[in-house]
Amino acid sequence: MIRKLFDFHGGVNLRQHKKETTQHPVQTAALPKRLILPLHQHIGHPAEPVVAVGDKVFKSQLIARPVSDISAAVHASSSGKVVDICEHDIPHPSGLKAPCIIIETDGFDRSRRESVRTHNLNDLSPAQIRNIIHQAGIVGLGGAGFPATIKLNPGDKKVETLIINGAECEPYITCDEMLIREQAVEIIEGVLIMRQALQASRCVIAIENRKFKTLDIMNKMVARSGYDFIEVVAVPTVYPAGGEKQLIQVITGQEVPSQGLPIDIGVVCQNIATAYAACRAVEHGEPLISRYVTIAGSVVKPRNLEVRIGTPISDLIEQCGGNRQTLSKLIIGGPMMGFALHNDDVPVVKTTNCILVNSVIADVPLPSRSVSAMPCIRCGACADACPMNLLPQQLYWYAKAKDFDKVQEYDLFDCIECGCCDYVCPSHIPLVQYYRFAKTEIWNQEREKQFADYSRQRHEFHNYRLEREKQEREARHKQKRAEVTGQKDGDSKQAAIQAALERVRQKREQSAVKPKNTDNLTTEQQQLIAEVEARRAKKTTIKNKH
Ligand code: SF4
Ligand code: SF4
Repeated sequence: MIRKLFDFHGGVNLRQHKKETTQHPVQTAALPKRLILPLHQHIGHPAEPVVAVGDKVFKSQLIARPVSDISAAVHASSSGKVVDICEHDIPHPSGLKAPCIIIETDGFDRSRRESVRTHNLNDLSPAQIRNIIHQAGIVGLGGAGFPATIKLNPGDKKVETLIINGAECEPYITCDEMLIREQAVEIIEGVLIMRQALQASRCVIAIENRKFKTLDIMNKMVARSGYDFIEVVAVPTVYPAGGEKQLIQVITGQEVPSQGLPIDIGVVCQNIATAYAACRAVEHGEPLISRYVTIAGSVVKPRNLEVRIGTPISDLIEQCGGNRQTLSKLIIGGPMMGFALHNDDVPVVKTTNCILVNSVIADVPLPSRSVSAMPCIRCGACADACPMNLLPQQLYWYAKAKDFDKVQEYDLFDCIECGCCDYVCPSHIPLVQYYRFAKTEIWNQEREKQFADYSRQRHEFHNYRLEREKQEREARHKQKRAEVTGQKDGDSKQAAIQAALERVRQKREQSAVKPKNTDNLTTEQQQLIAEVEARRAKKTTIKNKH
């Protein structure tokens, strides 16, 4: 079937530089002496260590558990001993350190085989699939590193199309292309797993139309599988056709709404390497402990390696014949959307797809230019190139003027930082740098505002607590005073009055008691008593007169 494809606005044609790294089969990188495993390799909450310094660990053993649904487990990528849990440099544009578990490998690469559990897809519910993928620490391997299960849980929304993104549109990066060539069967298994988790109606595997060999392999494998709901689509080789929103538009003709998600239009997009990782987890019981990585640029042997997560990048550069002494620049990711590293003693993490090496001897041709910026001439070329239909020139003006309200009005947060505007700008203005600066400033202001709100709430609660304690203290004092002075209030006072009245009544009754032995008297005895009473009465009268 020939599928109708759609255009997206803008984009640029770039020299691909992909031949060098697709000439050789993928090799397994050498086992490093030391693995550096950051607790935070994904978007969301960092994982929590479940091992301590001195512990021996097996390959694939859980060493840090996810603390929430938006978190990802970390596993030992080889056997050895935990020698430290400390702050270490990580691959991040900030150059900051982050908590990592350091494992000294023992060279045996031993797994605890009995812990490996495989599953039959037909027996699994969508929730069970998500749970396996969550426990395996799988995150989106296309770049952002969002825990994979989040996108595999559509809630009550219907998923029409699952798009598997195999369109690597950035120059130099070829790890997904090599993965398709070498692991096509397992990728299809992964697609079936994801389809079942999402209950999606159809699946589209998107590959760039210039990757003839790769397209041919995948087409044959899909045809052999016999699944008519899986379709391979050759998408145009225009940068950034591999961007999630652009790819969805090319395949479905629909635009993801501004600030919205693909699921809002019934689409879920997953990277091809994520599908492969899902297959390894569900069908082979393997957590995510390695991935394909492209090592390109100024190295003697540019190629793709299967690399254990946590391997120092310096080891990989040496394995590919790079010279650490002559390094001038290291880029993680592609030349358009990647970021420069501050040093090479950082590990490969789950989202590392490419290491682009630049040396002082052989400069790698990069699309970005190092020419000095000149004033904007309002040519509009940036707006023509923007795949998100933004106005890059306006964004630039307002970011430069630090007018952060205005820059948001022009949809700064829809910018995917693809760099197309930079690339075409005749004045060589580093536009994306301005957008990143503005985004960081806005996030900082937001954080400061949240902190101020939090501080105010804490202050108000502090005052409320002091007042409450004061009232409780006063109530306790009052009660104590009442107990000491015998003062009682309310019911206890009333009860005391009643008791006193009762005592008076009883006394009265006692005083009204008749004298004993006065019943059944004889007439003589009654007369005698009457005479005695008469005498007493007479005596009392005389006494009163005196
Ligand atoms: S491409 Fe550069 S010079 Fe042209 S309008 Fe945009 S920012 Fe200005
Ligand atoms: S970097 Fe942002 S503004 Fe520039 S072209 Fe890409 S999406 Fe548009």
